[in-house]
Amino acid sequence: MLFAAIDLGNMQPMAYLLAGLLFVFALGGLASQESARRGNLYGVLGMALAFLATLADPRVNALPVILGAVAVGGAVGAVLAKRVEMTSMPELTAALHSFVGLAAVLVGLSSYLNPGRAMNNVEHVVHAVEITIDVAIGALTFTGSVVAWGKLQGRISGRALLLPGRHLLNLSLLAMIIGGGALVCFAGEGAALGLSGFGWLLVIVGVAAVLGVHLVMAIGGADMPVVVSLLNSYSGWTAAAAGFMLENDLLIVTGALVGSSGAILSIIMCRAMNRSILNVVFGGFGATPAAASAVEQQGQQVEIGTEELCEVCLDAREVIVVPGYGMAVAQAQRVVDELCRTLQARGARVRFAIHPVAGRLPGHMNVLLAEAGVPYDVVMEMDEINEDFPETDLVLVIGANDIVNPSAQTDPASPIAGMPVLEAWKARLTVVLKRGKGAGYAGVENPLFFLDNTRMYYGDARKSMEKLVLAVKSASAG
Ligand code: NDP
Repeated sequence: MLFAAIDLGNMQPMAYLLAGLLFVFALGGLASQESARRGNLYGVLGMALAFLATLADPRVNALPVILGAVAVGGAVGAVLAKRVEMTSMPELTAALHSFVGLAAVLVGLSSYLNPGRAMNNVEHVVHAVEITIDVAIGALTFTGSVVAWGKLQGRISGRALLLPGRHLLNLSLLAMIIGGGALVCFAGEGAALGLSGFGWLLVIVGVAAVLGVHLVMAIGGADMPVVVSLLNSYSGWTAAAAGFMLENDLLIVTGALVGSSGAILSIIMCRAMNRSILNVVFGGFGATPAAASAVEQQGQQVEIGTEELCEVCLDAREVIVVPGYGMAVAQAQRVVDELCRTLQARGARVRFAIHPVAGRLPGHMNVLLAEAGVPYDVVMEMDEINEDFPETDLVLVIGANDIVNPSAQTDPASPIAGMPVLEAWKARLTVVLKRGKGAGYAGVENPLFFLDNTRMYYGDARKSMEKLVLAVKSASAG
């Protein structure tokens, strides 16, 4: 009714096509920092167009309810996004994926109860298969995301839950979902094995929900980044299944884009962390073996004072800065940039080394450094800079821990064993800025802090950096 005057209904396929293209441009834009803002804008435009074109569909007949729900959901989303700290983005992302999963389940169940048109037997079977896939992935995404949120928030233990025979359990649950789907098809308008088709759908939802909990519970804390990205992919596939069910082309395209880009990101992250994607999908990787905590550190951590560190900074010609989660917590990026510019002005070469899982979300450090105005050409990926550590005079590790932990290479029992790390220990001197003796996300000790060529500069990263910048600037001026 709202759009009757302009008859947008006939233009819907064109609008959907344009929205789909905008989503593709959005993904393209997000591939690099320089074009990320533009990419975001394309995404917003595409979504606005998709939303308006869907409202213009003549089958949409509850406009006030929809607009009311959008207003409430939009307001809650805007407040949440405004309030959330950058460091809590993974939790927010996991929570948002859970909503996608829940919505898919609800849409699937309601589509079964009210398919919207008469169907012959074949159409009923196809529709039942689509709904089964939709509610199964939706329920799995919902509970898996809730568990991921709990683990990231620290409300659920980060340790991997490794039940005996867990792979058999996963396979049995999968078989139950497939069997349940067959019974939904078979039940038609009546019943199969004593339950209506709708009853079997509820069983599938329950089984898939248990599978989602089990798959994510089996994954250790250090490997949660890949899980969040994988759940992102699942949320895309469930949206694509909903698109088939609702005969909505745009939902199919958008779901497939989210599903495949999430899957590609998961594979990239798995490579970066030297993990097998199959192990992530089937749960149970990143487990913390019992022996992990048994490694005792030799030696002690040696502190460095501001004055001495200032001198080291002034003498260094080759400097690498390794930012980590602590820099994000302390919001130290601007003052770090200030130090780097001061050292560059004195003729030093200063570069940043970015580990793919530094911080708490993919690209976390890149976003912070871009926000502080650090030029892109001094921000290096791990592979580009890892070989340069032996020729480096000074490495400043700012609130990073797991990503510079040599035990990933030397201790096969460590929960981060096999994860590629930045080889900061190979530099002439490494100075670590952290508040105290706190462990990193994986909860393991870091032998780097005990080496002869490592010094600890304790304190909140921002306050420490402010002291250092002051000292370096006044020494440079003097
Ligand atoms: P870590 O979490 O390993 O270490 C951060 C360190 O920062 C801590 O040891 C802490 O020590 C220190 N710190 C905390 N607050 C401050 C502060 N205000 N000032 C100074 N130091 C501070 O971070 P990394 O970046 O090294 O590694 C990332 C970890 O997070 C990896 O294990 C990764 O798998 C995981 N992860 C990554 C995600 C991603 O997508 N990037 C998502 C989820 C998890 P102290 O308490 O002594 O100050």
